[in-house]
Amino acid sequence: MKLNDTIVALATPSGAGAIAVIRVSGPDAIKIVAPLFKAKSKKDLAEQATHTIHLGNVMDGERTIDEVLASVFRAPKSYTGEETVELSCHGSPYIQQEIIQLLIRKGCRSAEAGEFTLRAFLNAKMDLSQAEAVADLINSENAASHQMAMQQMRGGFSNEIQKLREELLNFASLIELELDFAEEDVEFANRDQFRDLVSRIQTVLKRLIDSFATGNVLKNGIPVAIVGEPNVGKSTLLNSLLNEERAIVSDIAGTTRDTIEDEMSIGGVGFRFIDTAGIRETKDVVESIGIKKTFEKIGQAQVVVYLVDSSQIAVNRERLQEVRVEIEKIKNKFPQKPLLIIANKTDRLADEEIENLKAKLEDISSHAERAEFLLLSAKTNLGVEELKDRLLEFVNTGALRNSDTIVTNSRHYAALLKALEEINKVEDGLNAGLSGDLLAIDIRQALHHFGEITGEITNDDLLGNIFANFCIGK
Ligand code: GDP
Repeated sequence: MKLNDTIVALATPSGAGAIAVIRVSGPDAIKIVAPLFKAKSKKDLAEQATHTIHLGNVMDGERTIDEVLASVFRAPKSYTGEETVELSCHGSPYIQQEIIQLLIRKGCRSAEAGEFTLRAFLNAKMDLSQAEAVADLINSENAASHQMAMQQMRGGFSNEIQKLREELLNFASLIELELDFAEEDVEFANRDQFRDLVSRIQTVLKRLIDSFATGNVLKNGIPVAIVGEPNVGKSTLLNSLLNEERAIVSDIAGTTRDTIEDEMSIGGVGFRFIDTAGIRETKDVVESIGIKKTFEKIGQAQVVVYLVDSSQIAVNRERLQEVRVEIEKIKNKFPQKPLLIIANKTDRLADEEIENLKAKLEDISSHAERAEFLLLSAKTNLGVEELKDRLLEFVNTGALRNSDTIVTNSRHYAALLKALEEINKVEDGLNAGLSGDLLAIDIRQALHHFGEITGEITNDDLLGNIFANFCIGK
């Protein structure tokens, strides 16, 4: 890994903007920029203190390229830990390229994807899991994923792993010390204390491993399947949730044959709504493929919203019976999946019809596990806010509100699983009275997997993989 050269890249998105930021980092960053920068104050940039900002012109010989602000950060007090200058220039792609090309001619190299953050990691400004959180933070699109990335970047997760790793390392050394005194049959590592540590580690690992399911769902959006016959108002409901006309609304029954996904943030949590074709019994081949798909989508969803047209079931007993049967079908297949029955188009009903309908739906939902109902009108928005509240209740967002650490990264998840496997072996070994040398092997393995998460143990391939997913300039 080369750290002795100076790199440059555009840190803001490419294209025109009001301002663009060009980052320069490396041992010669200030030395390279200073002669090209003519400060309004006439001061030499190379003489300036860390964390200062200067107004001036970037000069290519006699030619002024742009008037910019130069921010100076001196090693090690910068993001990368190196000498750094950030030039805020006018956001024309032409100006950006002129300045970057000039800096390259004067000795900078074009930064690779994620190289600034890679340098921050190599200079011990952050550990590997924190560096990975930087990428998540940049990609976060809602309050939940933002909060998880922020927490990881601040080191919540790696601090915990780091502490356990140190304790475990301590025991590993004591056990290995025993090996040197094998003939004397001494125990430096207190086995009871060690057992206690192993059990604490198991608890923490299990909690972190379990959090992955929640973390993953929150990061990618909670999948909600919307099931209902054509024309009951699925698209209209999605639109009123979205507050914009994204899905196509039409009067022709069966237009929602293919599944559409809509993402939106409700109460700071990302949701993914999966529009399905419903599960009405049919002989039509295309429709029956649709039904199979619907069940697949229900399987993948965290919550099922079953939508009916209340103006139909309020007057049509057969239709109501069909609804009952369909809900039974869903519940037979997915008994534990929360199901919300929504009676839409209530704006078409008279008050007494609504009361009547309520009683019927109460009856249906009381016969099914984890089922609730809600009266709604997608057209007038009546009940839509209530629907949002109910969706948030269904989802276990408790983990987000308290400060428990949530694992969102599949690389960490894999390492945690392997670490737990090894720790379980250590426990078995302890119970079987295994000799110190054999225990030490499994402990070292567990330590290895801990180290993989925080980056104590790493290799160029792994780093290459992780940082290649970053954007250039970060
Ligand atoms: P989908 O096939 O389930 O997606 O149904 P659409 O959203 O396309 O709606 C079918 C028809 O029902 C459209 O004409 C909508 O305007 C109408 N519709 C949807 N929701 C309501 C509602 O709450 N009240 C009334 N009166 N009409 C609705």
